[in-house]
Amino acid sequence: VLVLPALIVRFCRGPEAAPAPAPTATGPWVRLLVDPDGTVLRLELEEYVRGVVAAEMPAAFELEALKAQAVIARTYAVRRMRALGGAGVPGYPEADVRTALDRGGQAWLSREELLHRWGPIQFHLHWARIEEAVAATRGLIVTFGGLPIDPVYHSTCGGRTENSEDVWQEALPYLRSVTCTTCRHSPHAERTTRTLDVEEIVARLGGEPGLRATAAGRPLIQVVQTTATGRARTVQVGDRRFRAADFRLLLGLPSTNFRVELAGSQVRFTLTGYGHAVGLCQYGADGMARQGRSYEEILRHYYSGVDITPLDAF
Ligand SMILES: [Zn+2]
Repeated sequence: VLVLPALIVRFCRGPEAAPAPAPTATGPWVRLLVDPDGTVLRLELEEYVRGVVAAEMPAAFELEALKAQAVIARTYAVRRMRALGGAGVPGYPEADVRTALDRGGQAWLSREELLHRWGPIQFHLHWARIEEAVAATRGLIVTFGGLPIDPVYHSTCGGRTENSEDVWQEALPYLRSVTCTTCRHSPHAERTTRTLDVEEIVARLGGEPGLRATAAGRPLIQVVQTTATGRARTVQVGDRRFRAADFRLLLGLPSTNFRVELAGSQVRFTLTGYGHAVGLCQYGADGMARQGRSYEEILRHYYSGVDITPLDAF
């Protein structure tokens, strides 16, 4: 929980005890835990945001989509920065944010890593667009009721995003299910299938005997509850029940938008979409930008009832 008004005042005064910043560096500063090696980098917030946009969204996406991602990346960091009253990385008092996605982090790549990944020509082209997107939204974050939101996003919803409580526990007023007609160009919008062996599924779910215990006439694996958008909400395996969001991650499935069929010792999942489907749909954002919509319109579409707020306006 943040105490923003007080901390923004501190933020405006600049960083305390900043060790000899470069002449052009003004902060605020974010302390980034680089997984898995454990190095902590101290970066200007705007430089951190550039490395996140580069890592989290294809650089060829429309500029307005890149701007929306920049505002999201900044909001994510501001919510966690200890200098602004955030909780930082649990267990790491010296870090505000981290790069490991499976530990609540946000991907980030350095300029050197991007140069290596893209090569010099692509780096030159992509980095210029990312710098433009970040500069055009400098200092802007997404707020609800005056506080930075939890700006969750995913790759491809496949037609409709999810209510937060249908995927996780908490019902957040700005994470409501909305229609998304603009992610059809995503490579993940097509229906795909994944086939897994029953034994592999049982092992990945923990291997307990109850996972094989079925009553007569009941299939070994079935979706027993769906969300308002038709995605799996609860999956029963043997006599055990799983939240579909957990089940998906344990099995490495791209989404919870699946049907399941059993054929002997094989289980076939028919799926669409990629990601948890809560918050902003990245391909949908790109599609909205292709239709001429602005980053503000994109953010307001996927996050209900929010404001786009400059940090120094608190
Ligand atoms: Zn979508």
